[in-house]
This record gives sequence, C-alpha cells and structure tokens, in this order.
Amino acid sequence: MAYAYDDQNIFARILRGEIPNSTVMETDHTLAFNDIAPQAPVHVLVIPKGAYVTLDHFAAQASEAEIVDFHRVVARICADLEVAPGMGGAGYRVISNAGGDGVQEVPHYHLHILGGRPLGRMLAKAV
Ligand code: 5GP
Repeated sequence: MAYAYDDQNIFARILRGEIPNSTVMETDHTLAFNDIAPQAPVHVLVIPKGAYVTLDHFAAQASEAEIVDFHRVVARICADLEVAPGMGGAGYRVISNAGGDGVQEVPHYHLHILGGRPLGRMLAKAV
C-alpha cells in the first residue's frame, strides 16, 4: 500500500500561506510553529515542508537532507526555548500521533514539542 497524502489538510494550507501561523523557525525543508491549542507553556509543532503523512512515511521516503534538517530544527528549538536538559533546561516530551489508534488529527507529519511544566506520565491510562 502507498501513503495517500491529502493536500487539503490544514498544515498543507499553512505551508501554502493560505492560513496564518505563529512561526518559531523556518528552513528550506522544515517549518515550526506554535500549536493553536497549546497543552503546555511550550507547545511547538515541527513539520517537514514535503508531503509526508506520518513519521514512518517521512523516515522511509524523505531525503537525507530533509531528515537531517528536520531534526536539527528540533534541536535548535529545544535549545532556544530552554527545555533541552543537556543545556540546563528542565526537559520536554516529543509526541507524534499517527493514524487512527494514534488519534492523528492532521494528516501531515508533525512532531509536538511539549515542555515548560512537568508533563506527567507518558500515557494517561492503560485500556
Ligand atoms: P495531531 O492530533 O494531529 O497530532 O495534532 C494536531 C495539532 O494541530 C493539534 O494539537 C491542534 O491543536 C493543532 N492545530 C490544528 N489546527 C491548527 C492550526 O490551524 N494552526 C495551528 N497552529 N495548530 C493547529
């Protein structure tokens, strides 16, 4: 099965400039912006500019330049927003929801970077 990318998803529209965003960082391959409904004092979404649906899609099919750039942006944001533990920050959590069980709302690959407060256990409860 191939990955099916819906180019009408909200992040595709943000990338086309059709919807405004609060940009945190932008490079040739990557855009990072504040989540519209923040769950923590730091809640940044990092997305590739390419048309990838999920982390596994990006990891399988993105170029090495895209993959390196994306993760360098994550590192720079963690440093700039002072959550990187190795640089004196108190820590953070990265989440990437994928598909139905992952409760992915927007079908364009993104990492959530959350921090600025204690975040509790990884999952609210087992089912
Ligand atoms: P998902 O469940 O797909 O991992 O999360 C999607 C995230 O995108 C949610 O945290 C939601 O608040 C955020 N979001 C949805 N629409 C917009 C938007 O138009 N602008 C921004 N900045 N964030 C959005």
